[in-house]
Parts: sequence; structure tokens; C-alpha cells
Amino acid sequence: MELLKQAIREKGKVLSSDVLKVDYFLNHQIDTQLMIEIGREFAELYKNDGVTKVLTIESSGIAPSLMAAHTLEAPLIFARKKKSLTMNNDVYVSQVYSFTKRETNDITVSKDFIKEGDRVLIIDDFLANGQAAKGLIDIVNQAKAEVAGFGIVIEKSFQDGRIKLEEDGYRVESLARIHALKNGQVYFTDELSK
Ligand code: 5GP
Repeated sequence: MELLKQAIREKGKVLSSDVLKVDYFLNHQIDTQLMIEIGREFAELYKNDGVTKVLTIESSGIAPSLMAAHTLEAPLIFARKKKSLTMNNDVYVSQVYSFTKRETNDITVSKDFIKEGDRVLIIDDFLANGQAAKGLIDIVNQAKAEVAGFGIVIEKSFQDGRIKLEEDGYRVESLARIHALKNGQVYFTDELSK
């Protein structure tokens, strides 16, 4: 997605060979116009897939998922990283190792919101080693629902998240795929031969 690649080029900061900071438009300040375009793109990609729920993880997955869920006319559910006081015990729980925080956290989703028979589109801001994705798949499986596929805003293709998901038979749609982060520069996979 050209608009997204342009935002990454102009406003992303390469922190190291494996971490990209996108606080200017996705992870802290939010570019709402760009989020709307991203959401529409995910909806277009999955419009024929019978999606009944969109699932993401708080907080950075919410903004890019909103327009997707709206366009697909499906509710948007975000997994919580901390159990809320108002949440009862009727929750699905899974464990996720955070790539950026280097710690394992429980994520929870109320059993009210995903049910057997649902087809769930999972959306996240980044795909690195697929840990968040794995936790979200686990929750969908606990609900006896089905994963329709993944919508990823930024995929770091040099990490193995996509490979693992594809090996398990999941469809992965990423709007920007990064081949490498080197010398402060972002190299996209579709621009390698240019
Ligand atoms: P994974 O679970 O696939 O290993 O990592 C994906 C999760 O870690 C995303 O939900 C995202 O929050 C975070 N993450 C992974 N890599 C990056 C990165 O390069 N930059 C930022 N800002 N977040 C990342």
C-alpha cells in the first residue's frame, strides 16, 4: 500500500536492525486518514470471506481495525492485555510474549464476544515472530470459531511470523512488507529489484 509505505519512509524511525518506530502515525499519534485507508484495504481483501468478527489486541491494533470492521459490518473486539476489574471469569486467556517489551503477558477476551461458528479476521499493527498472532489464534480456537485470515499493517518479513502462520495454513495479508532495516533505512520487499 503506497500511502502506508510513504508514511513509513517519511515518518518511521529505524531504531535497530529489527525494530521500527512508527509513533508519528500508528503507535502514539494516529493518522486517522491513513487508518481509514488501511481499514478499507483490509475490508476489500476479506470482503468475500464471510468475516463475522474482527479481532485485534490493544492498543495499537484498534485504530487500523476500526474501519475494516465497520466496512465488513462486523463487530471489532480487542483482546485485553490486563484483565479489567469489570470482567468476570468467563474469559478466554492466552499467553503472549511481547517482542518489544520482552515479557510474557496474559491476554483475555470475554466469552460473550466470540462464539462457535464465527469467522474471525485477526488484525495487528506489526507481524514479527508471530507471538501475538499465536495467542489470538489460541483464543479463536478456544471459542471453537474459525480464523478467516490475518490483516497486518507492517510485516517485518525478515522475522519468521509469516512463515509460521503460512505453514499452519493461514492466509496472511500485509499492507507493507519490510525486507530489512539497515543504516537507518527501510527496505521494502517489493522494491528489492529496483
Ligand atoms: P510478534 O508477536 O509478531 O513477535 O510481534 C508483533 C507485536 O510486537 C505487535 O503487536 C507489535 O506491537 C510489536 N512489534 C513487533 N515488532 C515491532 C516493531 O518493529 N515496532 C513496533 N512499534 N512494534 C513492534
